[in-house]
Amino acid sequence: MIPPSIRLKLSQAGIIASFILRGLLALHRTASAEDDVGAAGREARQWRAEHRVIDLHQHLDYRPELLERAIRVMDASGVGLGVDLTPGTVTPGSDGQPSEFEAHKKVADTLFPGRWVQYMNLDYTHWDQPDFAEQAVKQVEEGRRLGAAGFKEEKRLGLYLRDGHGQLIKVDDPKLDPMWERLGELNMPVSIHVGDPKAFFEPYNEKNERWKELKDHPRWWFGDTNKFPTFHGLLEALNRVIARHPGATFVSVHFGNNAEELDWIDQALARYPNLRVDLAARIPEIGRHDPEQVHRLFVKYQDRILFGTDFQSLEGRMILGSSGNEPLPTETDAEVFFAKEWRWLETRDRNWAHMTPIQGDWTISSIGLPASVLRKIYFDNARKLLARSLPAPTLKARHTRRDFEPDGDLTKTLWQTTSATRVETEAGEGGIRPELSTAVRCLWSDDYLYLAYRCPYTELTVFKPSQGERKRFDLRAPGVSLWDRDVVEAFIGSDSQDIRNYTEFELAPTNERLDVRLALSNKDFEWSSGFQSAVKIRADEKIWDCEMRIPLASLSAAKPIAGTRWRMNLFRSDRANKAALAWRAPLSQTFHVPERFGVLEFVE
Ligand SMILES: [Zn+2]
Repeated sequence: MIPPSIRLKLSQAGIIASFILRGLLALHRTASAEDDVGAAGREARQWRAEHRVIDLHQHLDYRPELLERAIRVMDASGVGLGVDLTPGTVTPGSDGQPSEFEAHKKVADTLFPGRWVQYMNLDYTHWDQPDFAEQAVKQVEEGRRLGAAGFKEEKRLGLYLRDGHGQLIKVDDPKLDPMWERLGELNMPVSIHVGDPKAFFEPYNEKNERWKELKDHPRWWFGDTNKFPTFHGLLEALNRVIARHPGATFVSVHFGNNAEELDWIDQALARYPNLRVDLAARIPEIGRHDPEQVHRLFVKYQDRILFGTDFQSLEGRMILGSSGNEPLPTETDAEVFFAKEWRWLETRDRNWAHMTPIQGDWTISSIGLPASVLRKIYFDNARKLLARSLPAPTLKARHTRRDFEPDGDLTKTLWQTTSATRVETEAGEGGIRPELSTAVRCLWSDDYLYLAYRCPYTELTVFKPSQGERKRFDLRAPGVSLWDRDVVEAFIGSDSQDIRNYTEFELAPTNERLDVRLALSNKDFEWSSGFQSAVKIRADEKIWDCEMRIPLASLSAAKPIAGTRWRMNLFRSDRANKAALAWRAPLSQTFHVPERFGVLEFVE
């Protein structure tokens, strides 16, 4: 029999041993998790250095100094493109003045081209008129014509907007059905805010967990059930709208307008394929849940969750997710706000102070997503959603005095001095194929334009044997032309008067090539540019590299000079992966959509 004192020691030893073991296991787990997390964070920093992040949820004031301030914050944080959800309605001003939407868009496009796209807002003034349903349809058609990327509805429906009899207008009022339907047909995504945090529907007193915020914003309290619908009543009305219009894409903002109920979100996303959610102003809520559960949800719906912040550069103040009567945030505060967004998505940090203190006195825990999921949330999902209205990309061709014969070697120093653009967007639908992302670089000399493509592949699909110099095409027979196997292509248009005039260059991994001159819809295959090319296949790395050298004289009668801008699109077909990739997606069955070209800019 063991004396009690020793028994105690033995059990203590057992506890210590199991403690050490658990410690070692935890250490092991942390180490491997940190490897992934570290790698994802490094990739994400690179994306931010390239300003690839898209913030799908911003609100702007269009005074130049306030736009400038927003750009400084976005630049410091690595946000390349912002979506302003509330630029105004498309109703013209009195005396034929441009609408608020038009005027605002013009200011942003003039001062900061390519940095913002705008959604439009509905003008409810004539709600009580019998033809308002048609008026609403006309408004969104006008918005589309004026360049609205999408449509935003604020939390007015069900909570603030009233008809002529003083009744609240319901979220699912059938009068709006034709408009939702038309938004789907016009490929204009809808961002919609309905309801608010649950606490805003609970008693208005110091015990309310959002008291700090509510006492500064009494109008955000909806707890009086005699006046307002219930929280779930509002959400169910939104679900009915989403269900009735499967052709329209709905981004339910603020994490599905229900950041507190992850299972509810899971079910809604499972039920409605046309539903997406953004993260705007809700990381402080989502971050309160079990981070493992949130991680699983984000991985499960990685194609349906979009980055957005509710960053607002408004008169008098910036708003970082939310605000009250606290001191005005500085630009440094704004950078910290964005840094905390990254920290939550990219690290596994536990129990830290969230980015919007006024939203509540609690801590959050990070969810450490893998890089493949992060890039979808940060930009790829938004690129697909906004494919129709993303700003045209520019590729800068750097000038060189040194002409060279193509040899397919992209490691030469000259190429290292250029920056690459990516061909990775599906030509038809605008989806992103990062695994096939093709880097393209461009140089020009006084006599030539040079293009270099680096193409990752899994399996090459080519014609055998090679036909050498003879152009391989037959417009009457399917499947026998060069473009019916793996190729890279460049469409280049120097004619600023008629964008339907341009030239086309194709190159296969066999170094077979083809050039065509187009005056849509005529295609001149007899034309010869005299372009040269070379290919290097690096089978061990599964990469094929190629160079094209195109005589400038074949592209334009007038030589380009530094500052010249031509129109261009770049493509790649990869048959093994059923990929037809574009630099800027034509969003069509054909590549030949000159309205959808990007810009080739000649620089010193
Ligand atoms: Zn907002």
